[in-house]
Amino acid sequence: MALTGLQIYKLLPQTNCKECGFPTCLAFAMKLAAKQVSLDLCPDASDEAKAALGAASVPPIKKVSIGSGNHRVELGEEVVLFRHDKTFYNETALALGVADDLPDEEFQRTVKTINDANFERAGENIAVSMVALIDKSGDAAAFAARAKTVKDTSPLPIALVTEDPSRAAAAVEVTGEAGGVLCGATAETAADFAEIAASNKWAMVIKSNSLEELGELAEKTTAAGVKDLLIDPGFKTQADILHNQTQIRRIALDRKEKGYGYPSALSIQEGIDPYQAALLVSLGVTKYAGLVILPEWHNWQFLPLLTLRQNIYTDPQKPLQVDGGIYSVGEPNENSPVYISTNFSLTYFMLSSEIDGSGEAAHIVIIDAEGMSVLTAWSAGKFGGEQVGKAVLASGIADKIKHRHVIIPGYVAVIKGEMEDAMKGWDIMVGPQEASDIPAYVKDVWLPLK
Ligand code: SF4
Repeated sequence: MALTGLQIYKLLPQTNCKECGFPTCLAFAMKLAAKQVSLDLCPDASDEAKAALGAASVPPIKKVSIGSGNHRVELGEEVVLFRHDKTFYNETALALGVADDLPDEEFQRTVKTINDANFERAGENIAVSMVALIDKSGDAAAFAARAKTVKDTSPLPIALVTEDPSRAAAAVEVTGEAGGVLCGATAETAADFAEIAASNKWAMVIKSNSLEELGELAEKTTAAGVKDLLIDPGFKTQADILHNQTQIRRIALDRKEKGYGYPSALSIQEGIDPYQAALLVSLGVTKYAGLVILPEWHNWQFLPLLTLRQNIYTDPQKPLQVDGGIYSVGEPNENSPVYISTNFSLTYFMLSSEIDGSGEAAHIVIIDAEGMSVLTAWSAGKFGGEQVGKAVLASGIADKIKHRHVIIPGYVAVIKGEMEDAMKGWDIMVGPQEASDIPAYVKDVWLPLK
């Protein structure tokens, strides 16, 4: 059971020494109860407190590993229903399908497309997580041969999508231990699949359209030796996804019922409209699915789905940020423009991308504003004119340029006067409000100035 702030407070030394960074033990206890800090911050915590809080902090949703090596996928260990309460930890694994009855060349090309589905966004690599091999042939030897091809040509774990345990066993035999996850077990076949998963260290998904039965099946399956289990409540409609996935998360977190303390899976049906399929995957990513299998897909779905996942699984209390300092876009020289912005990662990457698109190489002076976007930082008093002016001078940009112009974001035109006071002799230019208007700004304002 989670402890309340007051229960935790009673376990703390109650000396209000402030070593933890909080003014009182009670304030620290409240943060601990909200799972926003760790007990390690208190150097005087007793063994009794550590034991009590340790037991209370065991994640109610079990950690599950799929595959091995660098591309191993880890799921579960979630502790909140809403990401703003803490964060979501292990992002939804997206498995893209490839049918085992495709002709050789098309099969290999499809696997390669899945392997290559990764992008750099906001300084992070976002990628598809697994190859889902779909049993279309109905033939154990053919299914196993395709599983071997996936193993030999993809570094990603495999999701074996078949309802037939003998075909799953044949594929597992040729791919080896801990190769991925078995998807297709139902109440009737759970025992057979469990034996294959347990003896080969594969993860396994158990499916039932009845939430009640799902919990019972999950307990039986883990009792049969399956270490890494996911539970799939199925769905017929979009509303079912929202209801079932939310119920599982709620039962696991609030009632701590063991049979539901596993990451959940969502398998999209074949043959549905691709826009609808993308919508259903989005719903799964947003509402708690640990693994989403998309058997049929289009390349245009990758970037929006992976971007959504990246956003949902970014810690809302720790914005993605870049370091403060001077950055170059292209090969700027002493006559190049100088843009000023904050260190919110997304702002930086959007700005640098639009500067790149403008065709005019530039310097960017990034001010450390605790990872906030420009307007937020200004509102929070982290991007005032005097502060920014001093930070720009301290950055050393003056040694890199001959001119004395800097361009500030249009949304904070209000800081121009204070910056001019702080940077005597400099011209503070007000740039566009939106980064997308930078190419036009360069053409209409910057280039005529040169
Ligand atoms: S460090 Fe420990 S004892 Fe000191 S104020 Fe924080 S919680 Fe209390």
